[in-house]
This record gives sequence, C-alpha cells and structure tokens, in this order.
Amino acid sequence: AKPVVAVVGRPNVGKSTFFNYVAGKRISIVEDTPGVTRDRIYTDVEWRSKLFTLIDTGGIEPYTEDKIMQQMKRQAELAIETADVIIFMVDAKDGMTASDKEVGSMLRKANKPIILAVNKVDRVGEPPPEVYEFYNLGLGDMITISSVHGLGMGDLLDAVYEHF
Ligand code: GDP
Ligand code: MG
Repeated sequence: AKPVVAVVGRPNVGKSTFFNYVAGKRISIVEDTPGVTRDRIYTDVEWRSKLFTLIDTGGIEPYTEDKIMQQMKRQAELAIETADVIIFMVDAKDGMTASDKEVGSMLRKANKPIILAVNKVDRVGEPPPEVYEFYNLGLGDMITISSVHGLGMGDLLDAVYEHF
C-alpha cells in the first residue's frame, strides 16, 4: 500500500508552503495569519520511484493559544493513528516554543518514525545557533530546510523515504 506521510506542527511554521513545494503546485493555502489551512489536505508524491501520500494539517480559526494547542494535539493524534511517517515541523526563526515541546513529547511517545524538520533556515551553511535547542525535543537528528527557497527538500524526502 501507498505510505502516508503527515506534516504536523504549530500554525505558521510553513507546513503548507512545504506541502505546496513538494506537490509542485499551490494546493494548500499559505497565509500569514496562523492556521488558515483547511482541515487536512492530501496529495500524491513520487520520490525515488516510490509513491506516497502527503498530508498537510492545520485547521480553521484557532484564535487563542488554547485553541491552537487543542488543535495541534488533535492533528498530532490523527497523524499518529493514520500516518506511516510523521514530519514534525518547527520554525527556526521563532526557536523552540512551549507548544513545540508539548507536541514533540506526544510524538516522541508514539511508536512511529518522526522526522524533525526545522523550517525557515533560509541561508545555506552553518544554521543559526537557536536551531540546536530543538535537540532538546529528544527526537534525534533534525533536518534544516527552507520551504520558500526549496532548500533541504531532497534531504528531508530522503529521510522520510528511509522509513518506507
Ligand atoms: P502553516 O500555517 O504551518 O501552514 O504555514 P504557512 O505555510 O502558511 O506559512 C506561514 C508563513 O511562513 C508564510 O508567510 C510563509 O511565506 C512563511 N514561510 C514558510 N516557509 C518559509 C521559509 O522557509 N522561510 C521563510 N522565511 N518564511 C517561510
Ligand atoms: Mg497551513
């Protein structure tokens, strides 16, 4: 069967931008307002001759911190239930946040391969030092990417592919 790969993470970290880049078209809505992704959006992706389904997650109207947290947890639970590999996306510009920690620990306890993707590392070379705090999530190695510039996309897809 076709493996399922879900992208989870806080609103505004760049999940939909990544999804659209990999899809090769603008399917998912990218918004400066947090959380404007419709509930779950799917596309088929081929990487190294292997077909998989990529799911963008998000949600509607998480206006308060509480609602954002609730929604992230729900999306993470859904991903844990349904995905074969989970991409946990965080934001290098914001650094580690309390909700990253909370969702990170949920994912760590799940019996699923988790790939930590640190987005918004827009320059090639040594990543900004704040990036290293994401090691504290206990999810192992991270992959730095820039979804707007298409940097690190191949490395991330390779890391996902290893778990198929
Ligand atoms: P989502 O809520 O996680 O789906 O995030 P979006 O994909 O909607 O992106 C939120 C904002 O971050 C938008 O303004 C994007 O243009 C911006 N963004 C996404 N990826 C990158 C990136 O790699 N670098 C920078 N600098 N901005 C990004
Ligand atoms: Mg989105």
